[in-house]
Amino acid sequence: MADVQMADAETFAFQAEINQLLSLIINTFYSNKEIFLREIISNSSDALDKIRFESLTDKSKLDGQPELFIRLVPDKANKTLSIIDSGIGMTKADLVNNLGTIARSGTKEFMEALQAGADVSMIGQFGVGFYSAYLVAEKVIVTTKHNDDEQYIWESQAGGSFTVTRDVSGEQLGRGTKITLFLKEDQLEYLEERRIKDLVRKHSEFISYPIYLWTEKTTEKEISDDEDEDDPKKEEEGEVEDVDEEKEDTKGKKKKIKEVSHEWQLINKQKPIWLRKPEEITKEEYASFYKSLTNDWEDHLAVKHFSVEGQLEFKAILFVPKRAPFDLFDTRKKMNNIKLYVRRVFIMDNCEELIPEYLGFVKGVVDSDDLPLNISREMLQQNKILKVIRKNLVKKCIEMFNEISENKEDYNKFYEAFSKNLKLGIHEDSQNRTKLADLLRYHSTKSGDEMTSLKDYVTRMKEGQKDIYYITGESKKAVENSPFLERLKKKGYEVLFMIDAIDEYAVGQLKEYDGKKLVSATKEGLKLDDETEEEKKKKEEKKKSFENLCKTIKDILGDKVEKVVVSDRIVDSPCCLVTGEYGWTANMERIMKAQALRDNSMGSYMSSKKTMEINPDNGIMEELRKRAEADKNDKSVKDLVMLLFETALLTSGFSLDDPNTFAARIHRMLKLGLSIDEDETGGDDADMPALEEDRAEESKMEEVD
Ligand code: ADP
Repeated sequence: MADVQMADAETFAFQAEINQLLSLIINTFYSNKEIFLREIISNSSDALDKIRFESLTDKSKLDGQPELFIRLVPDKANKTLSIIDSGIGMTKADLVNNLGTIARSGTKEFMEALQAGADVSMIGQFGVGFYSAYLVAEKVIVTTKHNDDEQYIWESQAGGSFTVTRDVSGEQLGRGTKITLFLKEDQLEYLEERRIKDLVRKHSEFISYPIYLWTEKTTEKEISDDEDEDDPKKEEEGEVEDVDEEKEDTKGKKKKIKEVSHEWQLINKQKPIWLRKPEEITKEEYASFYKSLTNDWEDHLAVKHFSVEGQLEFKAILFVPKRAPFDLFDTRKKMNNIKLYVRRVFIMDNCEELIPEYLGFVKGVVDSDDLPLNISREMLQQNKILKVIRKNLVKKCIEMFNEISENKEDYNKFYEAFSKNLKLGIHEDSQNRTKLADLLRYHSTKSGDEMTSLKDYVTRMKEGQKDIYYITGESKKAVENSPFLERLKKKGYEVLFMIDAIDEYAVGQLKEYDGKKLVSATKEGLKLDDETEEEKKKKEEKKKSFENLCKTIKDILGDKVEKVVVSDRIVDSPCCLVTGEYGWTANMERIMKAQALRDNSMGSYMSSKKTMEINPDNGIMEELRKRAEADKNDKSVKDLVMLLFETALLTSGFSLDDPNTFAARIHRMLKLGLSIDEDETGGDDADMPALEEDRAEESKMEEVD
């Protein structure tokens, strides 16, 4: 037989990363090898789902093998364990592609995770579960039959290559896949019935197809030499014992023989957990179901099990994982982890209409009584029932998140993993925006190490405070001492730190909370009017006295700023740069610059509108005002203004177009401070270009940018 197979065996090299993965699996010590069975059974279950789905629209697809099952066959004589399913099977091309030549995106990630100390049981999450077979097997043979192809055999002992051969042995699967593991000498425990049953109970309890184990039964039987071997009277155990003793006494008269019989034993329950009553399901059962559904190795963080009745009926269980998956925002991969069933029959697990993208991290099952069984993807798109289901799922998800928020520790975990999703939701889901806003948490000028909700912020609002203030930036550090916050802090107004890139987008949509406007501390038009008439008057006078300086500064800075005004918001710093109310903030400019594929025209239109706000109470400004009044063309005034502008760019969260000129200016100031005479040190103005040149150069740069 082997010779015939070898005749047309084709050899393939494993793709490089898969090969690396195999070496890692084979050569590293893992204590958790048992998970291989869960992975292979889970693949069988997926394959069965696929053929069942196909058969909904075309019954004849089941002709090759009408029954849907998973069978486990331990063979002690040959030291093999076979897992057989009557799933969809693989064509020759599937075999070559899926089991060796095309690496999944998760291959590399999984290896990195392993090397970083992750547990091997995570393998299924990375989409390379099949290779876990090599945790226990030195050789694997996959025999498979797909409706569209002949029966093929894949075989490999790892070591860089595998072979694919047409199966001419005559052993017919009908349809499906048989995976035979040639167990390593130290892994023979997986031939024991007890061990296999325990494993299935532990890891594969919720597989919705029958799992049968090929069990061996040995019965002892006594026959007297002259008796017929098949005497049924002698089969009972009690009798055996008696006979045993008797045997010693009456040698030769009776004989004990062992009879080995085999049978398929059903070793899993298949009643779907979602059909059971929530109050009768234990936490452990949910966890176990969650793990079998998702391949996660940790328990879920939260669960919501509910049914909707009335005009439309469906049951669902939703889970929130403890961590974000490694590819949460991988746009190549559509995230959808809700499995759709129709009256207990699995239909599909990537139905985009079932849940919005931002909730793609929620996992679970939905079982509808109302959808037609033979529903197609096209039908799903306009299906009204599905729209109602979706609406309900979103509602329940938000309820579940609120439940999580009742436990601080859990919510921190949740928020760390999925706050970006919530913010994406705020951006995209106008209907649920308000409810999602309740789930937001931010650090703030008053929150200390904790984060605050908007609701709590509102309870802390000062008398007379109408708006909710926030500042966006790159990090907590970068914003907490920003000059923009000075006046607000002094007035005792709390400011939220929005330091996620996505905050800019979310807050742009949210606009208000609880009837209170969300106001950026870094944009134009920040009004903090609460002074007495007298204070106002004094301020106006001061403003007037600085009008000339504003003009001078604008002349010096030219196009770099839109205008120069006396500020309302700064207390200590000499000046800051604010952006237009509707334009980008400095933070947004940074984010957009980092996006390689952005539309350039948008950049010049949205950025560039900076207003310089100067602080009339600051000593530097006062001195500048005096000097500018004495001599408008004072070179030191120009120099100082440039320096102030560049410093303000930095403290306001922008980046410098030309850091070298800035540095040169600082150096010159240092020399001045150290009383080093420029001419004496041989320093000419070479390292400090004239201001007029600066300006020409920099505006050129801005055009390029
Ligand atoms: P995953 O199952 O996460 O996609 P695996 O490495 O476990 O990754 O399996 C790779 C692929 O091989 C599967 O996606 C499937 O196409 C195919 N495959 C594995 N086992 C079977 C099986 N029992 N029946 C049919 N196809 C299978």
